[in-house]
Amino acid sequence: MRNLIGRYKEFSDLEHEVIERGICTVCGACVAVCPYNALIPREETLHRLELHELEVTPDIYEKIEELCGHCGYCYYNCPQIMFNLDKAEEKEFGSVSGTVLGHYRGAYMARALDERIRARAQSGGVATALLKYAMDKKIIRGAVVVKSVKEEPWKPEPAVATKFEDLLEAQGAKYTPTAALIGVKRAVLEWGITRLGIVATPCQVHGLWTMKTSPRGVLKVGDAVVLVLGTFCYGTYSYNDLFIEYLMKKHGILPSTITKVDIDTERLRVYVMGELKLDVHRHEIHDYLRGSCRVCRDFSNKLADISLGGVGSPPGWTTVLVRSEVGEHVFKGALEEGYIEAQPLPEEGFHLIERLAKMKFEKGVED
Ligand code: SF4
Ligand code: SF4
Repeated sequence: MRNLIGRYKEFSDLEHEVIERGICTVCGACVAVCPYNALIPREETLHRLELHELEVTPDIYEKIEELCGHCGYCYYNCPQIMFNLDKAEEKEFGSVSGTVLGHYRGAYMARALDERIRARAQSGGVATALLKYAMDKKIIRGAVVVKSVKEEPWKPEPAVATKFEDLLEAQGAKYTPTAALIGVKRAVLEWGITRLGIVATPCQVHGLWTMKTSPRGVLKVGDAVVLVLGTFCYGTYSYNDLFIEYLMKKHGILPSTITKVDIDTERLRVYVMGELKLDVHRHEIHDYLRGSCRVCRDFSNKLADISLGGVGSPPGWTTVLVRSEVGEHVFKGALEEGYIEAQPLPEEGFHLIERLAKMKFEKGVED
């Protein structure tokens, strides 16, 4: 398709400018906005797209070409092409914060009060408790979360949660990316949900924001998301690299036997049947870090309604930055109604997340 001043870009341009350059974050925005479903022509192709992290092999490309309507929406909704964090921050909060932690109204350490949530939580279970509160109060009708594929417990896939049990099932950090925004498309078009919450990494939130604000697109499924819980992020690894190549082939640890994985800024710890099986410096897995993460600068998820993560708080607690009006409404409501408890974030915790955010902003994710 052409206009008078030049060529509209389309999927082949996305492929050359983002996917082939290794900077695709696998956010799923391109898939979510495609009105022809060209990027998910069939389950098997979707599986392969995710498995190879959107590596477009000739046979997949042929299938995409068959269905592609050449509208270019995938290209113009890709955050790696169209997104600028400062501009987005200004539009969202009225000004560029000029700080690595972004705009926020309150900084807390908090934890869920429901024991069922705490029992399975990586830190304080606050994301699950807030989603439960928002669902109970009908602020949202469902949430896009990441759960594990049944046959491969550490392999993530986007899922739509509509009840508490679904939220419990999706608890815990996954450390490998999945195209979460495909979950938004499914929730809206297949489930008919028009008020959604989402738990997402910074790059996924950038993709969502691009979808919501782009003038190009007809589906506008991103508009259904009214509550964004953004995780802190210090980089992710592809499932194949981390779980198959490194843990299984190099260390003989079968993914199906792993009961817990902890990756902080220093160490990777892997537990099998509750026992610590591997404890190495994060340097060890640096080569497996995804290309997009090496150039990513957003640690604290500056555009989320509420940002949260385990770092900065004692074990069993979650560090929380409440940013937007919606975020404040949900956080305070959950606090008042006994879904969570909270205290001001201790100074050391605040300095730690600030230091990490600064390191990532200045150098990307490095050793
Ligand atoms: S929209 Fe997201 S998944 Fe699609 S190419 Fe861009 S970064 Fe990758
Ligand atoms: S480091 Fe950036 S690109 Fe990588 S998963 Fe985190 S937010 Fe996404």
